[in-house]
Amino acid sequence: MLTTTRTAIVTGAARGIGAAVAVRLAGDGHAVAIVDLDETACKPIVETIERAGGTAIAVGVDVSDETGVQSAVEKVADELGQPTILVNNAGVLRDNLLYKMTTDDWDVVLSVHLRGSFLMTRAVQAYMTTARWGRIVNLSSTSALGNRGQANYAAAKAGLQGFTKTLALELGKFGVTANAIAPGFIETEMTAATAARIGMSFDEFKSAAAAEIPVGRTGTPDDIAHAVSFLTSEGAGFVSGQVLYVAGGPRG
Ligand code: NAP
Repeated sequence: MLTTTRTAIVTGAARGIGAAVAVRLAGDGHAVAIVDLDETACKPIVETIERAGGTAIAVGVDVSDETGVQSAVEKVADELGQPTILVNNAGVLRDNLLYKMTTDDWDVVLSVHLRGSFLMTRAVQAYMTTARWGRIVNLSSTSALGNRGQANYAAAKAGLQGFTKTLALELGKFGVTANAIAPGFIETEMTAATAARIGMSFDEFKSAAAAEIPVGRTGTPDDIAHAVSFLTSEGAGFVSGQVLYVAGGPRG
């Protein structure tokens, strides 16, 4: 049961996993900032939350832009209250085999996932340490364990695991926990785009993936939102520095 209403920031929340996480955190009673590249694209999720009686605002920012991130976090603090829950979810793919991967493919992926999570966390931790309470959840991936065609993404997602464990060590004494969720195959536009890139229909791609997953199905954004809800809850204060694989079977 919710005991305290917090202000939460979810990046990349205009769609996919981020949108489901934002709606879930609002359902948990938190005020939620829907952060994504395009503020207009965030509005439908804000409206969904408001229709259900919750509180949300749309904030447009590129998480890899240092100045933009600082202003975005200040806007959230001014309009919603000091943020003490942060979900670093914004992400992009630029898949290619190593010999064909461009430097730009590498830089963009590392920049959004790693630099973006760093900038957002550095900006928000000030509010968390002042409040002596905070919950940080970083979106890693089973690709952190290695995935053909994803040298950039695997490096970023493995990097996020090291980042998470270090946050847990540095911020624990302020009542702040940091954990990573490493999803397996989740049905979103990101996986739909991968299916299109390799010339498969999304249904075929999902069936092929499900055949390899112990629980016999692919995941949904709500599967991840449920895990985020737990890790950001009041009662999860003794869980920190962990990587939770939400993949329908054992990984890691
Ligand atoms: P998605 O549907 O592609 O959504 C990602 C969101 O992030 C988009 O709204 C995108 O905006 C936004 N975004 C991209 N770059 C940004 C930036 N620089 N600043 C702010 N927002 C930015 O992806 P998803 O499948 O929901 O994935 C969410 C997270 O889970 C990602 O970190 C992903 O790597 C991770 N993940 C996903 C899966 C999966 O199977 N889907 C598995 C493991 C991990 P635009 O639409 O404007 O580009």
